[in-house]
Amino acid sequence: MTVWDDVVGQESAVAALQAAVANPAAMTHAWLVTGPPGSGRSVAARAFAAALQCPQGGCGVCHACTTTMAGTHPDVTLLATEKVVIAIDEVRDLIMTASRSPSGGRWRVIVIEDADRMAERTTNVLLKTIEEPPPHTVWVLCAPSVQDVLPTIRSRCRAVVLRVPPPQAVADLLVRRDGADPAVALSAARAAQSHVGLAKRLARDAGARERRTAVLSIARRIRGVGDAVLAAGELVEVAKAEAVSATQERDAAEKAELLRGLGVADGETLPPRLRSQLKQLEDDQKRRATRHQRDVLDRAMVDLLSLYRDVLVVQLGAEVDLVNAELAETVRSLAADSTPEQTVRRMDSIGVARTRLGGNVAPLLALEAMTIALRPQG
Ligand SMILES: [Zn+2]
Repeated sequence: MTVWDDVVGQESAVAALQAAVANPAAMTHAWLVTGPPGSGRSVAARAFAAALQCPQGGCGVCHACTTTMAGTHPDVTLLATEKVVIAIDEVRDLIMTASRSPSGGRWRVIVIEDADRMAERTTNVLLKTIEEPPPHTVWVLCAPSVQDVLPTIRSRCRAVVLRVPPPQAVADLLVRRDGADPAVALSAARAAQSHVGLAKRLARDAGARERRTAVLSIARRIRGVGDAVLAAGELVEVAKAEAVSATQERDAAEKAELLRGLGVADGETLPPRLRSQLKQLEDDQKRRATRHQRDVLDRAMVDLLSLYRDVLVVQLGAEVDLVNAELAETVRSLAADSTPEQTVRRMDSIGVARTRLGGNVAPLLALEAMTIALRPQG
């Protein structure tokens, strides 16, 4: 067992990181790990951090390895954000941390999981530190692609590119690590298009599999504009509900914690001078819920896209596996009822909706335009 075990299907990236750990000449102070969502950017970054701290280069069992992997190593700082944008103050804190020598480890490692979520002003604060870091500090930035990061940052980092892992490699991980059933694991890995985290959820949560099937069923249910508008509303509601259920318990705990910290008893009215702190927390929580809802919606659209991709595969008679093998019947009936050109247009409309959602268009508006474009065209 080593720290690299969970970095699946990324042989060349792992080789580059291992070489840097083993050989000082191959080491550098700033890294940019890129790869599509779910390819394991943060898993790879964390494994790299552990390997740098470990006396054996990532044995997976020593104190340095286990604490790094658990997120408790004092010299490894991980910034994972659930907000849409990383605040400039968070980055200033990281820079302070980065300036200190490691307390006992071999390196001080700072990982920023969503480096693409920084405003330009924030990025500029980072630049100088990345350019001339203290001798034992390593920055590891993660982003979906190199283009998501400003060129000024990009040019100062060594790039490590993750690819989409093969579904079988993801399935093997789910079987080995989580004890999933091999057939369920493979179907989940395909349905999740090798997104490791999603595949894991699909493999062990029958409810998640049902929700995914429900999203895909709208492709067949939409017959006219009325159905399309209803389906868009349904998608938004489902995403909202999922965001609420995912965040409300944590929101309440955070609020209780803050009030305790401020010395306010349960049920007591908050003195006016403390209200701004509560407001700040509530604003953060609202942003987090918004981001979660947007992520859920985007996922639903990626699922729909995979269905039309399958339709196109059938229409063109291509010799490749269906992503949605268990929906083969739906795929075939959609393929028979439309032309490849129509399928491509539908896929385009899903892509446009994703872009518009990313650009802060009201979700319902973006989705209605999409579902209307999905309806059968004479
Ligand atoms: Zn170790």
